[in-house]
Amino acid sequence: MQIIDGNAIAESIITELTAHVSGFTKQKPVVAFIRVGEDPASVSYVRKKQKTAERIGIESRLHLLPEDVSKEALFEQIDVLNADTNVNGILVQAPLPAHIDETETFNRVTPEKDVDGFNTLNIGKLCQEDPSGFVACTPAGIVELIGRSNIETEGRHVVVVGRSQIVGKPAALLMMRKGLPGNATVTVCHSRTKDLPSITRKADILIAAIGRANFVTGDMVKEGVAVIDVGINRLADSSKKNGYRLVGDVEFSSVAEKASHITPVPGGVGPMTVAMLMQNTVRAFQAARHE
Ligand code: NDP
Repeated sequence: MQIIDGNAIAESIITELTAHVSGFTKQKPVVAFIRVGEDPASVSYVRKKQKTAERIGIESRLHLLPEDVSKEALFEQIDVLNADTNVNGILVQAPLPAHIDETETFNRVTPEKDVDGFNTLNIGKLCQEDPSGFVACTPAGIVELIGRSNIETEGRHVVVVGRSQIVGKPAALLMMRKGLPGNATVTVCHSRTKDLPSITRKADILIAAIGRANFVTGDMVKEGVAVIDVGINRLADSSKKNGYRLVGDVEFSSVAEKASHITPVPGGVGPMTVAMLMQNTVRAFQAARHE
């Protein structure tokens, strides 16, 4: 059984990007973050993304807006960044306050700077297998983990549990696309799926993006399955300094006994999401500069 080291794979991508960016002598890529409010997880995610950008040589800018910001003021900020030719990538950190529609916000970002891959045009390009679009970072990271771990996908049965716009659905599209890693036979499950274990037991590759701690247990998988655990769930743990520990959607101990490959939480998909954001930013820069 191989534990897929997402930290190590993300590090090698960061090293590759750092070398690449050092070759841009006239200008460096610039990514702009917009964070609304003080949600602790968002504060920590944006900080992590900024630190990684800095390591690579990507300039990052942070725009902080209050929790009660109006939609108009947020969109004005996005428009300013859309028009700024020095800015290559724009990321509006989710979740947004309830009074602001996320899809509308993501669509306000010009597709050429949509390094999060949430814009309708980029999702459309993913459906059409048009490589000029940006793929959302978490599903792109999942595919990269599978590819770099030499897990065969062609003709194999991939079961994705979760059908969200940002993880489950794009991950399924990537696994079924013509090419590698891809060419898989894909089943997508969700909360209305009947007899989920009978389906997950048929998976050669299982991608769990559910948002429920330790949901997939050893009796739900077959011997030799490769498991990608996307979930990030906080479980109260008084022995930890911050009062919680992170667990995935997969019960690691029981599933690892049967798996050929498995990603840990933390240290699996999480670091890949950040690495893929950086990759998208460098691509946006190159496309804008025609380098
Ligand atoms: P969503 O809540 O948007 O989607 C969850 C999906 O799981 C839905 O499709 C839902 O079905 C399905 N689901 C919920 N309960 C069940 C059930 N009992 N049986 C079968 N399916 C079920 O979550 P996200 O996709 O945004 O995130 C999923 C997980 O991944 C979360 O833990 C999140 O924190 C984590 N995540 C991790 C990232 C990373 O960088 N590693 C990035 C993004 C997310 P239905 O559609 O019917 O409601």
